[in-house]
Amino acid sequence: MEKRFIYADNAATTPLSETALNAMLPWLKEGYGNPSSVYRIARESRIALENARKTVAECLGAKPTEIYFTSGGTEGDNWAIKGALARSRRKGVIISNVEHHAVLHSALAMEKFGFKVTELPVRENGIVSPDDLRAMIDEDTAIVSVMLANNEIGTIQPIAELAAIAHEHGALMHTDAVQAAGHIPIDVKELGVDILTISAHKFHGPKGVGVQYIRSGVRITNLIDGGGHERGRRSGTENVASACGLAAALKEAVDTLPERMPRLTAMRNRLIDGLLKIPYVQLTGDLDKRLPATVSVVINAVEGEGLILTLDELGVCASSGSACTSGSLDPSHVLLAIGLKHEVAHGSLRLTLPDDIDEDGVDYIIWAVATAAERLRAMSPVWDSSAGRPM
Ligand SMILES: *Cc1c(COP(=O)(O)O)cnc(C)c1O
Repeated sequence: MEKRFIYADNAATTPLSETALNAMLPWLKEGYGNPSSVYRIARESRIALENARKTVAECLGAKPTEIYFTSGGTEGDNWAIKGALARSRRKGVIISNVEHHAVLHSALAMEKFGFKVTELPVRENGIVSPDDLRAMIDEDTAIVSVMLANNEIGTIQPIAELAAIAHEHGALMHTDAVQAAGHIPIDVKELGVDILTISAHKFHGPKGVGVQYIRSGVRITNLIDGGGHERGRRSGTENVASACGLAAALKEAVDTLPERMPRLTAMRNRLIDGLLKIPYVQLTGDLDKRLPATVSVVINAVEGEGLILTLDELGVCASSGSACTSGSLDPSHVLLAIGLKHEVAHGSLRLTLPDDIDEDGVDYIIWAVATAAERLRAMSPVWDSSAGRPM
């Protein structure tokens, strides 16, 4: 096989698109005015920022006044959880047990202030059950936070149903849509959420900028106070270039979705089929309710870190567990939540396909994973090479 380079870790981050870069450049060069100042170059920055806000609102089915620029997904998740609890007389927060650390650790950090965190379990397919939420929620629940799409196994959650249950009990509904934005259609009205978080660098925008949708009339405490930017709710001199890059990237992603989604879904399914032909490989997460470009499997008798390094030698960038947890020996909480045993979870592999992947690219990845698994199993004390199965 002739060596190739394939970046298949787009859930960790994506390359900046040409469109996003070009939308940013003027505001990094001559357009340096502070949007709060009153002279002409400042007014131009202000107009660019408000146009970006309008574009984002259109992409999400929201009003421009419901859009707040932030520093990214981590800030948005912190703001939703901490801001909602600080504002409420209620003491409870319900999160799924497969949330990103930005939600999980924000919720746990509030326990020391007397708030109570309850975890909504996922089923074996990685999806929560609305019935479980109904059984768990009560009149002390201030906010429910469940991610729209999972960053490790790609599963998509029934947010609209969960939001309806939250609202029946007077609780707010937040969704971390960081992995979903630009990859599946999002309409905040259809989802019925009060707060939604996205981050530009997961859809070919720049790093360090995100958007918080907060539905009109929903009040949460500020996370960042200061000069009163973003209509008094998120202070700090506006990052005009990044906001413009985010808006351009989101619009490009949303506009190309009808073409990209079916094509990537076909590539993803080809990859899943190929990987499942390798002996003792198992898919993690639901087969259908998953992101178009996300494949996640566990490979028996293979250890994740060795797998990622071997794939890197073969020219494929992939991840095991999640970028934040690799380097630690604990398997990811997501893989344990779907019922995998520790030793099996260690052999996890996540491949998130680039937009320009074709059948040859997919076949190359399958070859690289099969080759890496064979090499690592040959050295593994828990693999019986002569029988071709685990000990
Ligand atoms: C990447 C990611 C985040 C964090 O976003 P940043 O902009 O990198 O801080 C939060 N949630 C999910 C699901 C993510 O994938």
